[in-house]
Amino acid sequence: MKVITTIQELQQALAPYYAANNTIGLVPTMGYLHEGHQTLAKAAVSENDVVVMSDFVNPTQFGPNEDYEAYPRDLERDARIASDVGVDILFAPSVEEMYPHQGGITFEAGAASKILCGATRPGHFNGVLQVVTKLFQIVRPTTAYFGQKDAQQLALIEMLVRDYHMPITIRPIPIVREVDGLAKSSRNVFLSAEERKLAPNLYKTLQSLQQTITQFDHIAAKAQIEAATNGRVDYIELLSYPDLQPVKEADTQLILATALYYDNVRLIDNIIFTVGE
Ligand code: AMP
Repeated sequence: MKVITTIQELQQALAPYYAANNTIGLVPTMGYLHEGHQTLAKAAVSENDVVVMSDFVNPTQFGPNEDYEAYPRDLERDARIASDVGVDILFAPSVEEMYPHQGGITFEAGAASKILCGATRPGHFNGVLQVVTKLFQIVRPTTAYFGQKDAQQLALIEMLVRDYHMPITIRPIPIVREVDGLAKSSRNVFLSAEERKLAPNLYKTLQSLQQTITQFDHIAAKAQIEAATNGRVDYIELLSYPDLQPVKEADTQLILATALYYDNVRLIDNIIFTVGE
C-alpha cells in the first residue's frame, strides 16, 4: 500500500487505472481507523480494481467550539489497518494541500442539513459536502463508500451526487457495532469508564423505541434515553428515510436517529428500518 500526501502524486498513481478504464473505489475517512472503516474498505476492495482511502480531518466541518484540535490522529496506525484490509492507496493530505486558497467557493447544503446534527452543528454539512466534492474531483471514483452510522451525511451525499449529476455510485454500509451494541466511532476513546459502561444503552433504547414506534413521543423518548445512558439528549427524531421528512402515513422506510452528549464526547446512533418488519 502507498501512503500519498499530494494530489499530484495521487493522480499520477491513478493514471494507469483511468487509462485502463478500471473501477476505482473511494473510502473517505477522518482516520483513527476502526472496524467500521475497515468494513467500508473491505467492501470497496471486493468491488473495485483499485481502492483509495482518504485520511483527512477536515477543518471546514468543525465548528469553532468543536473537537478539531482534539480529534484523535495516528497515521502510522491507520496505514497498518488500511493495508491489512487491502487498501491500495492511503491519501493523507495536509490542510494546505486540500485548501490552498482562502475565501473561495463554499457550499450551502440546504434544508436537510439544518435538522438533526445540523441543528446543533451549524455549517457542519456545508464543510462535509465541500470536502467530499473535492475528494470526488481529485480521485474521480467509480463508487464511494459511506457508513449508515452518519445517516444524515449519507443522505446529503446522495442528494449532492443526484443534484450535481456526479457520475459516482454511492454505496451505503450498515453500522458496525461493538459486541455490546455501541456503534464504533473514533470518538469513543473520549468516553470515561462510567460513560463507556452506559453508552451501549443508547442503542438498546433505540431498539425498544422501534418496537413502540406507533406511539412515538419525543419527550418520553428523550427521558427514556437519558435515564438509560446518564447522558444528555441533543435530539431524538423519527423521520422518513432517505429524505428526512416528518413521517407520513404512506412512508415505509424510516429512521430513528439520536445524538447524545457526554462530558467530552457527543455520540450519534440510528436505526433505519422498514415499517412492519
Ligand atoms: P469518519 O472517519 O468518522 O468520518 O467516518 C468515515 C466513514 O466511515 C463515514 O462514511 C462513516 O459513516 C463510516 N463509519 C464510521 N463509523 C462507522 C461504523 N461504526 N459503522 C459503519 N460505518 C462507519
